[in-house]
Amino acid sequence: MMEPLNHLDDEQLLLELYGAGAEAAHRHLQACPECGARLAHLKAQRARLVSGMAAPDPAALRAQREAVWARIEKSRGRPAWRALQAGALACAVFAAVLLYRPATPPGPELARAGAEVSDAQLYEDLAAMLARETPAAAEPLLGLFAAPDKNEVNAQ
Ligand SMILES: [Zn+2]
Repeated sequence: MMEPLNHLDDEQLLLELYGAGAEAAHRHLQACPECGARLAHLKAQRARLVSGMAAPDPAALRAQREAVWARIEKSRGRPAWRALQAGALACAVFAAVLLYRPATPPGPELARAGAEVSDAQLYEDLAAMLARETPAAAEPLLGLFAAPDKNEVNAQ
């Protein structure tokens, strides 16, 4: 089979560049130094583009990092930032104190004051709710399928 005499066009060269060239184009490239040079030029351009994207200038990255850190350090030094930090810490401690509850429910001696009574009631309600096999809202639905034995439900 005779090789085509005309040179490869840009599309054929691109296909060769990505290894998808036709067999005839491939053979033409091996025989034609002119097209070989064009392909080599394309390969060099692609390599430059790829390396430019994959490896950004480390010096530029370092300068950018240092600029960011310098800005952070500067804002950290401001009194307003320090006050904000102190305020946030105080709030966190205050919230921790407020949220702290003993692991065991309050004893009867704590249940005298009004607030503790409601706390104890809350614990009891929660415990009862958690002990239930099914959520109260789902019980009417269960009735549609089967009537659960009362003892079974309350055994938990
Ligand atoms: Zn050629």
